[in-house]
Amino acid sequence: MSAMLCPHCGGTTHRSHTRGIKEKLFKSLTSHKTYRCRECGWRGWLRSADDQSFARRNKIRTIISVLITLVVTTLLALYLVDKLGTTPPSTPLNQQSTP
Ligand SMILES: [Zn+2]
Repeated sequence: MSAMLCPHCGGTTHRSHTRGIKEKLFKSLTSHKTYRCRECGWRGWLRSADDQSFARRNKIRTIISVLITLVVTTLLALYLVDKLGTTPPSTPLNQQSTP
């Protein structure tokens, strides 16, 4: 496993501990991890290059896209049902033009 380099100065970084729930959540949802630079003191998120988390991220992305598709389809179906429900079914033509 190669060390991550600082995007500011190119120095070596080390893994920094996550602070708070938001960072922990972000870390668990993505493959990003907090790093701190030894040289300039920069602290931020870097994506770890190991395959395991990358595969996990891809899996999460697939799940999210499937969920979004499902939600959109459901909402569209509900919208259509609602729209069709308000209009009376099979409206006969009121024009009773008897010659
Ligand atoms: Zn640095």
